[in-house]
Amino acid sequence: MGCRGSNTAFMHFDDIKVPVANRIGEEGEGFKHFMITLDGGRISIAAMALGLAVGAYEIAAKHATKRKAFGRPIGNYQGIQWKLADMATRIEAARGLVYGSAQMKDSGQRHSTQSAMAKVYASEVCNFCTYEAIGILGADGLTPKYPVERMYRDMKLTEIGEGTSEVQRIVIARSVLKSFAD
Ligand SMILES: Cc1cc2nc3c(=O)[nH]c(=O)nc-3n(C[C@H](O)[C@H](O)[C@H](O)COP(=O)(O)OP(=O)(O)OC[C@H]3O[C@@H](n4cnc5c(N)ncnc54)[C@H](O)[C@@H]3O)c2cc1C
Repeated sequence: MGCRGSNTAFMHFDDIKVPVANRIGEEGEGFKHFMITLDGGRISIAAMALGLAVGAYEIAAKHATKRKAFGRPIGNYQGIQWKLADMATRIEAARGLVYGSAQMKDSGQRHSTQSAMAKVYASEVCNFCTYEAIGILGADGLTPKYPVERMYRDMKLTEIGEGTSEVQRIVIARSVLKSFAD
């Protein structure tokens, strides 16, 4: 559906023997390593979602100042203004979560919960912004004349890859309940 620049395919490994020297980490610790990898990967996907949201928002905002309907730029209408205001506000909130979780990773702090929060929030902001941007562009928004239809298709991966939004909420809720137990 999207992300066509990045190939996705099934891979099968039959009777593969990996020499101990090539093993990543200690035996039996694969799951732990994979979970740590996901914590970082979720920040990357959140950053991708943020970038797509900003791209769609900027195109829509510029368009709103130029496109005239009923004799006025569509940005003069409150219906369009509210969409842009919500996009701008949610983008700033997502940016705070993405940069905050990246800062925690860089400084060596545990960041599983913050990565999950950044990923679920930024990807849902991306969904909102790319969807609303298409609406602001009108029929042109559905065509390749603007990159927004591509951004909308690319967006869906950010809600699924590196763990779905439901899975991020499981991770966050587990941490919330743990911190309030006893
Ligand atoms: C483009 C792309 C690239 C990818 N690249 C990689 C990669 O490089 N490496 C890799 O390992 N994986 C990769 N993935 C896999 C990705 O991480 C999984 O697709 C994703 O985690 C969802 O798993 P699933 O597809 O098996 O969905 P499922 O687990 O079958 O989930 C289906 C639905 O059920 C929901 N669900 C499942 N469990 C629960 C639950 N407990 N509570 C509530 N809802 C639940 C999910 O949220 C989802 O809505 C990639 C996926 C995509 C789309």
